[in-house]
Amino acid sequence: MAGRITLKRGKAKPLLNHHPWVFSGAIESIGDSRDGQVVDVFDSDGRWLARGSFNSQSQIAVHVWTFDSAEEIDRGFFERHIAESIRRRDKAVIGQSDRHTPIAYRLINAESDGLPGLVVDRYADYLIVQFLTLGIENYKSEIVDLLKNLVAQKGIYERSDVDIRKKEGLAFAKGVLCGDEPPERLEIVENGLRFLVNVKTGHKTGFYLDQRENRSRASPYMWGEVLNAFSYSGGFGVYAGRAGATRVLNVDSSAGALDLAKENFEINGFGDKSEFAVGDAFEKLREFRDEGRRFDTIVLDPPKFVSSRGQLERGLRGYKDINLLAFQLLNPLGTLVTCSCSGLVNPDLFQKVIFGAITDARREGQIVEKLSQSADHPVSLSFPEAEYLKGLIVRAW
Ligand code: SAH
Repeated sequence: MAGRITLKRGKAKPLLNHHPWVFSGAIESIGDSRDGQVVDVFDSDGRWLARGSFNSQSQIAVHVWTFDSAEEIDRGFFERHIAESIRRRDKAVIGQSDRHTPIAYRLINAESDGLPGLVVDRYADYLIVQFLTLGIENYKSEIVDLLKNLVAQKGIYERSDVDIRKKEGLAFAKGVLCGDEPPERLEIVENGLRFLVNVKTGHKTGFYLDQRENRSRASPYMWGEVLNAFSYSGGFGVYAGRAGATRVLNVDSSAGALDLAKENFEINGFGDKSEFAVGDAFEKLREFRDEGRRFDTIVLDPPKFVSSRGQLERGLRGYKDINLLAFQLLNPLGTLVTCSCSGLVNPDLFQKVIFGAITDARREGQIVEKLSQSADHPVSLSFPEAEYLKGLIVRAW
């Protein structure tokens, strides 16, 4: 028997619009629902709305699986959704095809692919999986089994070592789920460039797959002396190398990320024009400015500065400061590629911040491209929260 959740009066609208979350504050009563159990959600008049997994420990008390009362949450449910996600990763979405190239892309993007809490990324022959909610955690073995049968791979590796697990009352989990353990250096090819990835210890599942299309779109605008700030394992910088940059200086606070970046420049043949500086990007950029160093292209791809509404003001100041420094460091007709992965900073607000920064730098500029996350990180129309990455390519003078 599924548990029965009844919402407070006036709280049914998001579910009627197929938004997949029920916040704990919207709930009137939970009956005998237990954590991890599949529950039916009703409005205050007793009308059935949705079926999902309950977790009293999370602010998101129900993650919805279905809005169809006839649909059972069983192996068949997960099989259908996984198969549909795979079918949607066609050439248009992945951007590169060729079965023999070891490519990397997101195969399942949680809510936006109808599977709240589940992220599956493919890196060459390996699948890297994140179980982010109690609801999906309870189906781990079925999901691993289905992935094993539905996707050709050498191994499935878990990277559920993410902070949002804490909000669900779950501990971190990491390790081989089936097949072979991925190597320390897994090689992938992205838009014809080679990248070594450590899927076991790297950020996210090893690589910033969400920036794949942006690295490509930024390429024709990258030239001359390039500063790749918050470089991680080289990403944008390696593309700049191919685009004909004379030199690429990569700055990151993680020495390990820069070691990998160095290898990535070398395997692509751009080792001789690469430089690396470990440190805080704010401090480094200030130093460069004060030393009179200038660049023709600057990439800013910082980590998330805003994780909650309370951090908004401070985070916006961070974006403003780093972009102001970038405009001060940019040569005339230089390119700034600037990004924000804070979901709470919407594209309009981000653009206002960049406007504030260029104004304070007493420079002029124009937007030549607007960037978003790659197409394999889709945004469900009923779940706009899935959109988090935005960026601008600006030419400044
Ligand atoms: N552009 C990269 C991804 C960048 S992720 C790509 O395409 O792959 C953000 C990076 O910022 C991480 O590598 C992190 O180590 C680094 N970072 C975080 N805070 C920093 C700081 N204050 N100064 C410099 N780097 C920082």
